[in-house]
Amino acid sequence: MQSPINLGLLDLTLAPGLGNLNYTYQNANASVVNRGHDIMVRFDGDVGSLKINGTTYQLRQMHWHTPSEHTIDGRRYDMELHMVHLNAQNQAAVIGILYTIGTTPDEFLQKMEPYIIAISNQEGKEKMVVGGADPNVAKGKDTVYYRYMGSFTTPPCTEGVIWTVVRKVRTVSLSQITLLKAAVLMGNENNARPLQDEDDQFGYIPGTPRGPENWGSLKPEWATCSSGEMQSPINLGLLDLTLAPGLGDLNYTYRNANATVVNRGHDIMVRFDGGVGSLMMNGTAYQLRQVHWHAPSEHAVDGRRYDMELHMVHLNTQNQTAVVGVLYAIGAQDEFLHKIVNGGVDPNVAKEHDIVYYRYMGSLTTPPCTDGVIWTIVRKVHTVSLSQLALLKAAVVNVSSRKLLSSPHFSPQETELI
Ligand SMILES: [Zn+2]
Ligand SMILES: [Zn+2]
Repeated sequence: MQSPINLGLLDLTLAPGLGNLNYTYQNANASVVNRGHDIMVRFDGDVGSLKINGTTYQLRQMHWHTPSEHTIDGRRYDMELHMVHLNAQNQAAVIGILYTIGTTPDEFLQKMEPYIIAISNQEGKEKMVVGGADPNVAKGKDTVYYRYMGSFTTPPCTEGVIWTVVRKVRTVSLSQITLLKAAVLMGNENNARPLQDEDDQFGYIPGTPRGPENWGSLKPEWATCSSGEMQSPINLGLLDLTLAPGLGDLNYTYRNANATVVNRGHDIMVRFDGGVGSLMMNGTAYQLRQVHWHAPSEHAVDGRRYDMELHMVHLNTQNQTAVVGVLYAIGAQDEFLHKIVNGGVDPNVAKEHDIVYYRYMGSLTTPPCTDGVIWTIVRKVHTVSLSQLALLKAAVVNVSSRKLLSSPHFSPQETELI
């Protein structure tokens, strides 16, 4: 869970259990410090605190990154202020504020300008702020945030940091950005850590370096994407309804459990942190671990691709995978997605008691494309509203489904249905 990451619309309602932001700041003694890689305002007096779920996090320091470290829907801003808070156990909560270059200078930075000039280009040098500094000038009363669990973006990159990135973008003048860049040591002018979710990224756009036809060569451990012998997804037909009858009936028990919504860049995933229940197949229990969505659907039925597909990923104790897929067409809203956006997760809502399935042995449809996955696609097509689908697509990539592959069981027509 390294930071920074790209944030999207769905992150606005992420981890509702983390609670509202509640802070009280006041003017306090402060020093402006040149750390070489950035300029920091360190609070030497009691400057106030942030309360998250009943825990108090004291504000200790603030510093600037140019350009911004977090991106929103793929857009990087010109500057990001980090307000670093620590609780009594030294756990961190950081508030991030994004800035774009505009005609109005940033008021807080303006107050710090004489001190920044005084320590410019001198690593380790610090200067006391006359009359102290007031964080309220920087923070304002913003109420909409992106919230996620991440890490410090500088060494030691400690994890478990509660990140709160304010949605409202503020302005900073070009000369203020120039001042900050000139003040740090040469080579640190751009002191934003690269996005941390990009290394594992693969894309869905054919013909691009990270496109589906290249997944198998992006990493040695992804080779199965090219060489696998039972790759998914496939076109399903009437015959698959009776495929692999030996695999037995579907038998599952799910319950409400703690869950975390994760933006993986290529999709939105709900990861279950507690025991959320399992699927029994031929006497083997497969625990439900996560669910995620693809748009349009990955599997096709009789050559038809649907608007969305939900994957409920289960693992047994040998880490073998069984995925239940649910297809959706545009129509009435999906209760499961509706509940997630409003902060509740119960897999029973997604699954219902559908009893007819397409069943085949396939693979994961994303790298590492592992073969040997038991696929169960519910025959009944569910509905999702256009706005729910738009929300999912806005949060990630526009198309997140792999093209149809041939199945060892039969040869489906290779049709491109998008
Ligand atoms: Zn920082
Ligand atoms: Zn999937």
